[in-house]
Amino acid sequence: MKGKLQGATDATDYFCFFCPKCPDREIMRILEYGEHAKENINKYNAHCKSKAKYGFTLVFKLHCEKCGHTDFVKVSNTGWQGGKHSEALSRYGHNKPTQL
Ligand SMILES: [Zn+2]
Repeated sequence: MKGKLQGATDATDYFCFFCPKCPDREIMRILEYGEHAKENINKYNAHCKSKAKYGFTLVFKLHCEKCGHTDFVKVSNTGWQGGKHSEALSRYGHNKPTQL
């Protein structure tokens, strides 16, 4: 997806992903999710002020009913631990954790 996928919370606390191909923030369905990885100890705890209970990566399969676009997105706490989005896009590319 390389930075094209965006989203926001709805009127409550649910997060919606917007189709990167459709205009006007068309909300995508989440068809599947899975646990991609899990680590008992989050390796960044020693370097951060906050403490994560464990390391995880969740993967979601997204689908747009309007245009038919399907893609996958991951949510993880074993990659970037902070910093700016522009740095995540340009400095290291994807799946590379921030340097502490
Ligand atoms: Zn779409």
